[in-house]
Amino acid sequence: MVSGGTRAQDAVDYVAGLVAAGMDVARLNLSHARGVRDYLAGRAPDYGREMASMQAVRRVAETAGRERHVGILLDLQGVKIRLTLPEGQPPGGVRVAAGDEFALRLTMDPGPGDLSCDASPAMLEAVRTAVAGRGSIEVAFGDGDTVLVCDRVDGDTAVLHASRPGILRSRKRVAFRDVDHPEEPPLPLRDRVDLAALALPCVLRGEADFIALSATRSVEDIRALRRFGRAAIAFFRNGEEPADTENAELFRRLDALCPDLAARYAENPGRIRVIAKLETRAATRNLDGILAESHAIMVSRGDLGMQCPLEDVPRLQKDIVRRARLLGRPAIVTTQMLGSMEYASSPTRAEAADVFNAVLDGADALMLSAETALGTRPHAAVRMLRTIASAAVEWENQRRTGRGVQLDTLRQQIEALRAAQQRTPGWADVTDCLTLEAVRIAEGLGLDAIVAATRSGQTARHVARFDPLVPVVAIVPSGRTARQLALVGSVRAVVSPAEDAEQSLEEGLVRAVQAGLLPEGARVMIIAAREDDPAGASTILSVRRVRVESA
Ligand code: PEP
Repeated sequence: MVSGGTRAQDAVDYVAGLVAAGMDVARLNLSHARGVRDYLAGRAPDYGREMASMQAVRRVAETAGRERHVGILLDLQGVKIRLTLPEGQPPGGVRVAAGDEFALRLTMDPGPGDLSCDASPAMLEAVRTAVAGRGSIEVAFGDGDTVLVCDRVDGDTAVLHASRPGILRSRKRVAFRDVDHPEEPPLPLRDRVDLAALALPCVLRGEADFIALSATRSVEDIRALRRFGRAAIAFFRNGEEPADTENAELFRRLDALCPDLAARYAENPGRIRVIAKLETRAATRNLDGILAESHAIMVSRGDLGMQCPLEDVPRLQKDIVRRARLLGRPAIVTTQMLGSMEYASSPTRAEAADVFNAVLDGADALMLSAETALGTRPHAAVRMLRTIASAAVEWENQRRTGRGVQLDTLRQQIEALRAAQQRTPGWADVTDCLTLEAVRIAEGLGLDAIVAATRSGQTARHVARFDPLVPVVAIVPSGRTARQLALVGSVRAVVSPAEDAEQSLEEGLVRAVQAGLLPEGARVMIIAAREDDPAGASTILSVRRVRVESA
């Protein structure tokens, strides 16, 4: 389960309440970060607010209980257009009344008094052409609840009229309807600054766990992010100049503006865990490639519902979640899950059903956004989300019949997906088969749990995709891997850092009992890899009893 943006005020108490209510991963929405504005003004990007939020999450997680791991997800804005309010506006936003007129600048570099959105010059041109051709266009804000009409573009300023009341909120998305969107290059400047000066060093240092890429359109966007990451690491660690001149200029300027940045790159990089946010039509067409190269995916229903007919969104959610799960990619479902709890003390019946159904669709995590970032009852919203999700899991487990047929069907679907991808990476067929058999045997014998001894967390993710009827415990070497598994609702991770794999397993089992994740004397299925197995392969299955006294 995941929650939305953290708040600056009383960060520790606020975060502590979210964690106590059941939050497993905190999402920081970098669309609100001010790094790029500082950079464009020639100042060192100030990420003090984001760093404070991250520190609050880590501090709270440390005291939240044994083996309670809370992940941090840094969410890049991507090629998305967002609203900036003039400085000094109330946090609740600007109220719109029928008949109001607004001047909206389409610029990356607004003045302090401007209402603006960060559209590229190509987008400005596309808007101008659409207005000239059709006389007027609609401009939708947020989830489309406020819509204004643009009938004139002067220079970089669109003149907008309201015919209905609404609200304009800071950093909400702006959608120019029926405009031919230009093909924007990946990673706009805003993302490159946020990556180079914040997200990459934080992930390398273990201060954050995932990077999410908004508006991912194809696998190329993910590859561009990874390429940029490699270039930044090579520059800040070894002084290697990137071939791309814009990136070279960016790295040099950041290096000069932020004297401690190079030192922050010194940590040994793990693989950067990229979460693809699926919110464009293009993404739904390019799903196979995106799934192949991302760690996890997010079904971002807010934007998806602006780009596609609303009646298509439930189908897309179900299809994307199913395919992601079959390949062992955790799936997050988000937006308007408990929307009315932004103001109300309980959700609508329809929202409760939506949360319940998302769990039945196979979502590993559910994410709140405005409910926790802006709402008046953020902690109650997280508690409610967890309560409904737990009820769904319990009900699903009780009603499962024909489990053997269900597992056979899943196996066939995985084989079909692998065949469609025409690339079975590494020993994926072995891992697919052994993780399935682990579940089948554990359920058949009525074991107490499946224990995955896993360096990267992958074996546990691959077991979890079958929704086992027994708990899944992952024994992992580091807090970093444990926090990455916080995204997978059905897995509880135990950190056991011993060098030797056998010792790590033994100590991990003891810790799992001590943390209450396994009963003393439990009969468990162990799934693991040998030291010299290829990466990603799980090759050992065994059944044993867990005895703490003998440890
Ligand atoms: C969404 O569009 O559903 C979404 C999650 O986007 P954002 O990052 O703007 O919250």
